[in-house]
Amino acid sequence: MTQAFDCAECGNPRVLMGGCQYCGSVELPNVFVDTIELNIKQGFPTVEEALDHLTEYLRMACQLGLKAIVLIHGYGSSGEGGRIKWAIHDALENNRYADRVEEYFFGEDVPFASTTYYDLLKQRPGLKDYLKHFKAGNAGMTVLLLGSGRRSA
Ligand SMILES: [Zn+2]
Repeated sequence: MTQAFDCAECGNPRVLMGGCQYCGSVELPNVFVDTIELNIKQGFPTVEEALDHLTEYLRMACQLGLKAIVLIHGYGSSGEGGRIKWAIHDALENNRYADRVEEYFFGEDVPFASTTYYDLLKQRPGLKDYLKHFKAGNAGMTVLLLGSGRRSA
């Protein structure tokens, strides 16, 4: 993957959340992509922590004008990590993130080379690098299409 962000103050590579690990800057970073991957299970959050983290992440992603997030939440198999997937599905279906998420696609519904797959790429070409690994769909992730105030590309 190409470097997605660098620090607006010191120029070192950065991640979106949590400030610059080099200079401590909490300014919005420079952004070089329109699609990013977020592993919501990183750091082993509780379900509520994961949902809150997603809220915050979406807020920043929209401020930066990102177009899509490939959200990695695991397969929903067991334990706290497993519950995160279903909590995110629930939250999306109950419009918890509707102010920032224009559309969402559960990975299992987007098998490689399906109609949905091509429709998605038409809407968000930046997803190609992520979706081409899907093969028969990937139940461990969800694609979020971001829309912030009907801004045109
Ligand atoms: Zn910095």
